[in-house]
Amino acid sequence: MQVFPFFIPHEGCPHRCLFCQQEKTSGHKAAPVPLGVADALNRLLPPVGDGDIAFYGGSFTLLPATRQRDYLEVAARFVRAGRAGGIRISTRPDGLENRHLDVLDGFPLRTIEIGCQSFNHEVLARSGRGHCAEAAVGATARVRRAGLAVGLQLMPGLPGGDRAEALSSLQKALGLRPDFLRIYPTVVLAGSALQTLFDRGQFQPLGLDEAVEICAEMLWRCRQAAVPVIRLGLQPTRELDGPAGVVAGPYHPAFGQLVCSHLWRRALLRVVEETSEQVVFVCSSELSDALGQRRQNLEFIRTRRGDFAISGQKDIPRGTLHVGSESFSLMELAAYEGFCH
Ligand code: SF4
Repeated sequence: MQVFPFFIPHEGCPHRCLFCQQEKTSGHKAAPVPLGVADALNRLLPPVGDGDIAFYGGSFTLLPATRQRDYLEVAARFVRAGRAGGIRISTRPDGLENRHLDVLDGFPLRTIEIGCQSFNHEVLARSGRGHCAEAAVGATARVRRAGLAVGLQLMPGLPGGDRAEALSSLQKALGLRPDFLRIYPTVVLAGSALQTLFDRGQFQPLGLDEAVEICAEMLWRCRQAAVPVIRLGLQPTRELDGPAGVVAGPYHPAFGQLVCSHLWRRALLRVVEETSEQVVFVCSSELSDALGQRRQNLEFIRTRRGDFAISGQKDIPRGTLHVGSESFSLMELAAYEGFCH
């Protein structure tokens, strides 16, 4: 589904999480006025469409009610005119009490994205989130009762977090049966409170390889649970890519592809461990993920199986490896063991 996003960086939020620098992550310094939203929608939306008009960043439901209604009324006009299918917003778990949801009532909202980040009390406290893990559980239930779809956001690698915490938080998130997830490994942004900790040597972010490994396992578990992951890693912006953007941590403009390629590497390793085949065929549209960025998967496998080749064929179903006369599923070959606790 096409999403037409508007960013209201940090507005409405009564907290400042250690990692937050929404002006950089969103690429927008200030929220648009409702008239500006209307002008932009007039230009961007097709004459007929089913996309979502989205208000991201900040904590939408904690904006003054009149301001929320001003934005929602503008968006609703385009939904009523058939140029968009609905509205989605993002907010904090503690911004979804019944009184907050009441403000949204009557508008064509379809989805609420909830910034959970972690389900671990210590991690939430050390990150300055200002809410407990149970807040996300109650918020998800209330959003569902309101008949809306729910997306959850998680951030592996926050202060106090590690692989076990990331997987445990994921397990709790999946237990809430969200409609989709977004996963953003923590990076240290210039000017954030996390940078102060990092500069003092009091916080160390995940390395890129470590973050890719953790997120690959998270992605695999989400696919097993049939919960789509609609974003892995921060969307590149001019600010993030500039000299005053990311200070440290696993930021990569193609992070999602690194993660998918990691699952392919696990699968290919199984192939060379368990067969003597020299060539694997995959769907052409997945060939670049299977080869890995700059063909790193292929080169890695070749250190174990000399002349190994990975080839693309249009008629092979996605997520499948043809090896000799047999077919294997990527998910089976890349399998992880049960959840750790
Ligand atoms: S909840 Fe945290 S990340 Fe979100 S806007 Fe507030 S301070 Fe920033």
